[in-house]
Amino acid sequence: MGKVYLVGAGPGAPDLLTLRAARILEQAEVVFHDALVHREVLAIASRARIVPVGKRCSRISTDQRFINRALVEAASRYDVIVRLKGGDPMVFGRAQEELDALAAHGIDCEVVPGVTAALAAAAELKISLTRRGVSRSVVLATPRIGTDEPPGGWAAGVAAADTAVLYMGVGEAKLLSNALMQAGLPGRTPVAIVQNASSPTCTTLHTTLQDLPQRATDLAPGGPTLLVLGEVLRPGCRAEQGELGQSVQPTVTRAKRA
Ligand code: SAH
Repeated sequence: MGKVYLVGAGPGAPDLLTLRAARILEQAEVVFHDALVHREVLAIASRARIVPVGKRCSRISTDQRFINRALVEAASRYDVIVRLKGGDPMVFGRAQEELDALAAHGIDCEVVPGVTAALAAAAELKISLTRRGVSRSVVLATPRIGTDEPPGGWAAGVAAADTAVLYMGVGEAKLLSNALMQAGLPGRTPVAIVQNASSPTCTTLHTTLQDLPQRATDLAPGGPTLLVLGEVLRPGCRAEQGELGQSVQPTVTRAKRA
């Protein structure tokens, strides 16, 4: 029986891959990867059979049960199997289903962390998610609900946090904005939309919770996008500008990196 590595590929930029991930990829015999993994990262796995299993690769989602089965099967044929996931495997990555399926078959596995998109977004914004005196808690949340899942209290959790990062939410900006205002967040809560964090095509846009639905449509669709909410984003809390407590002026910034 081989060993399966659940590896975080990071938020997009290939040089945000960890050294540990690169070393395991070099040894990999087969790599099952998500859609948003950079080709330079896949190229490190030069000996491996490369199998795309991500949503955007096949247009329709590769069924999670199919992926679980493929990993189990691969463990009987190969020694080093890599399941390469965007960001960090343990954050909205369906890692638990895969770990449980492997454990049920007694297959050895190891998780290699990666830089999750929330942290790449904070870096792009140059905003500390835990700015001293403003934020002592960060919530990672998603309004997205899978089939057969209970809705849960995501909005209450976000409203209770000082800073929140919302994955997979921008497509439902109106619902999301309404749900959060109903949960008690003021409409003037600062929000940043960050698309393609860590990539040369990164775009950031500052707005407020009440204006979010309208501003979300200003972004060209395509790249992965997340939302950051909280007072850390208010101008004056933002590094270089004005007085504390200023209202949020909508701004769009595009990355200038090569
Ligand atoms: N495991 C991943 C998240 C997978 S869910 C991680 O730890 O980052 C996929 C969602 O992550 C996307 O819909 C988007 O909301 C967010 N995302 C992933 N990469 C991103 C990027 N480079 N920039 C902005 N958001 C990103």
